[in-house]
Amino acid sequence: MTLEIVTVPCLKDNYAYLAHDPATGATAVIDVPAAAPLLNALRDRGWKASHILITHHHDDHIVGVPALAAATGARVIGAGADAHRLPQLDEAVSPGDTIRIGMDEGAVIDVSGHTIGHVAFHFPASNALFTADSLMALGCGRLFEGTAPQMWASLSRLARLPGNTKVYSGHEYTASNARFALEIDPDNTDLMARAKAVAIAREKNQPTVPSLLSEELATNPFLRAGRPEIKARLGLANADDAEVFAEIRRRKDRF
Ligand code: ZN
Ligand code: FE
Repeated sequence: MTLEIVTVPCLKDNYAYLAHDPATGATAVIDVPAAAPLLNALRDRGWKASHILITHHHDDHIVGVPALAAATGARVIGAGADAHRLPQLDEAVSPGDTIRIGMDEGAVIDVSGHTIGHVAFHFPASNALFTADSLMALGCGRLFEGTAPQMWASLSRLARLPGNTKVYSGHEYTASNARFALEIDPDNTDLMARAKAVAIAREKNQPTVPSLLSEELATNPFLRAGRPEIKARLGLANADDAEVFAEIRRRKDRF
């Protein structure tokens, strides 16, 4: 049986998630921007949080962890390398480790770049990938701590997962990401169609997450830094992929 996943909007534009294993009742909360919306979402479904998974140390992903852990007794899991700047962990994990939510197993993946120590959680049997501020819908997180080659390596690691993987990212930035993507990749017909769909969803105030990894590969400029047409357009025909990624990221920072 696969995890049932619920998207929970928090704060201004953050997303947190519930991942529920119907077989055992185990329920993971992925990131806690605020405790109240997650407690409400759990209560509405009659679910009890058994695990809290932390992606990275930024306040808008962890502020609610202590309150949620106190209210539910859930086990707090996060990167051991970042333990000094995360809420108290019950379980410190490293990239390559396996975590278990009820019957479902997930892998911890290093996605350093936005921060060093940022991890993603991949549940292959459920086709679910929780990426927070690494790979985002039509975008990627800003490089606050890591380097461009590091983020490129992180994104490349995610790009190798199956195309039918659903990407559950940390923020609703997709409409503005789409406008930027069209500047980098204006002739991409898949991107044009996706940008339209995103605009319509946002008009109705619908979330644009999760997205499919295959859609990201086809339309997200940050995953497409290796494509000859993108390199040519940026005047970087002979540059290596990580350099092209760095240039796209620099342009986005100024966008
Ligand atoms: Zn962040
Ligand atoms: Fe964030």
